[in-house]
Amino acid sequence: MSNTENSIDMTRPLPDVQPWSRPFWEAAKNGELLVQHCMDCAANIFYPRKYCPECWSGNLDWIKSSGKAVVYSFSTAYDMVEPRFWEDLPYTIAFVDLPEGVRMMTRIVECDPEDISIGMEVKVTWRKLNDDFFLPYFRPVKS
Ligand SMILES: [Zn+2]
Repeated sequence: MSNTENSIDMTRPLPDVQPWSRPFWEAAKNGELLVQHCMDCAANIFYPRKYCPECWSGNLDWIKSSGKAVVYSFSTAYDMVEPRFWEDLPYTIAFVDLPEGVRMMTRIVECDPEDISIGMEVKVTWRKLNDDFFLPYFRPVKS
């Protein structure tokens, strides 16, 4: 009898790429944060979708985000997370608002969690998961 039944899967989950989200992940490899844009009603859209959630058009394109954002809300995990994220503790999950008019779930990094506040200005910084995936995290804007 093997002991693998009791082992913990420490493999990080990877994004499930869809045809309509592939451009986002391709641009991320080059450090570009893309936001979907509806060519019919001009809505900016995040996360990537097949149809515009405002007008149901499939006529979607992409714009390049400035990478700037403001913290809308956040929560810091110090314990009690899935085992494959233990090595990251403590970490802060946040919603940030981009000037392009979309709200993005992300992590706030490169600062003490105690220094994070609602309304804080942040900027995108990339974290490599593997050769195919770079995740957009955000760090405080240094004044
Ligand atoms: Zn639309």
